[in-house]
Amino acid sequence: MAVIGFIGLGNMGGPMAINVVKAGHTVKVFDLFADAIKQLVSQGGLAAKSAADAASDADVVISMLPSGKHVEDLYVSAEKPLFEVVKKEALIIDSSTIDAATAKRVCAIADNRGLNFVDAPVSGGVAGAVAGTLAFMVGATDAQFIQAKSILQSMGQNIFHAGPSGAGQIAKCCNNMLLSVLMAGTAEALNMGVKNGLDPAVLSQIMLQSSGNNWVLQKYNPYPHVMEGVPSSNDYQGGFQVDLMYKDLGLAMDISHQSGSPAPMGAQAKSLYAMHKSKGNGPLDFSSIMRLYQD
Ligand code: NAD
Repeated sequence: MAVIGFIGLGNMGGPMAINVVKAGHTVKVFDLFADAIKQLVSQGGLAAKSAADAASDADVVISMLPSGKHVEDLYVSAEKPLFEVVKKEALIIDSSTIDAATAKRVCAIADNRGLNFVDAPVSGGVAGAVAGTLAFMVGATDAQFIQAKSILQSMGQNIFHAGPSGAGQIAKCCNNMLLSVLMAGTAEALNMGVKNGLDPAVLSQIMLQSSGNNWVLQKYNPYPHVMEGVPSSNDYQGGFQVDLMYKDLGLAMDISHQSGSPAPMGAQAKSLYAMHKSKGNGPLDFSSIMRLYQD
C-alpha cells in the first residue's frame, strides 16, 4: 500500500480521497478549507498542515483543483511549490479539468526536473466520485500510465490511456463538448414536440427507439419527470453544474482555436450555456438548459 498526498477535497476530491482511504492506502489530505480536511479525517485520512506537508513523503500525489491557474500555482509558482518538495520517484497525478496547454507546460517543467507528472481528468460527476465509478482519461507515457492505473482503479471503473501529456485534458474537452451538444439538441427537440402537443415521455420513447437515440435520452432526460432520479426531476439540483459545463466549453474553444479545428456546434452550445448562465442558472444542473428553450 502506498502513501498518498491528496490535495483539493471539494465536491469531487472529497469523495475520491475517501475511496483511496477505503482501498487501504495511507492518505495525507490538504485543502484550503479546514472543514474539508476534518471530513476526511473522520473517514480515516491524515490531516496535513499544508500541501507541501501532504506531498513531501508521498509515493503518489493527487490533486483535484478548480482550474489551470490553481494547478500551476500549486506545483510551480507557489511560495513552496510542490515540485520542490516531492520525492524524485513520486508519481504526480492531476485530476483537475484544466486547459491542455497548462497541463503540458507543467508536465514539461516536471520532466526537466526528473519528476513524473500526468494529467488524468475525470468524467462521471459527484455521483461517480462517491461510487468510485469515475472514468479517467490519462495523458502520460506508457510506464507512467501503468503506475497511475493501479491507484486510479480505487476511484474509477474505466481508466483510459488517452495519449501523451495533455491528451487526457483534450479527451475530456472533446467528450464534454459533445455532451453539451447532445443535451442542447435533445432539449430543443423535446421542447418543439411538447409545443406541438406531444407528451414528452412518449416523444422520448419514440426518439430512444429511433435514430435520435443518444446518452441524454438514455440516462439524463432534461424534461422534468420523464425519468425519475435525474436532476430534471429534482428542480435541476445536484448533478453537473451549468458553471462547470460553461468552463469546460471555454477550454474546448481554446483547443479549437489553438489547433485550427472548427467547432461550430461547440461554439453554439457555449453561447446557449452563456445565455442560460447569465440568467442566474450557473449553480443548476446542466440539463436545466431545457428551461432556456421553455422560457
Ligand atoms: P470544488 O470547488 O468543489 O473543489 C475544489 C477544492 O480545491 C476546494 O475545496 C478548494 O478549497 C480546493 N483548493 C483550491 N486551491 C487549493 C490549494 N492551493 N490547496 C489546497 N486546496 C485547494 O470543485 P470540484 O467540483 O471538486 O471540481 C474539481 C475539479 O474537477 C474541477 O477542475 C472540475 O472542473 C472537475 N470536475 C468536476 C465535476 C463535478 O461534477 N463537480 C465533474 C468532473 C470534473
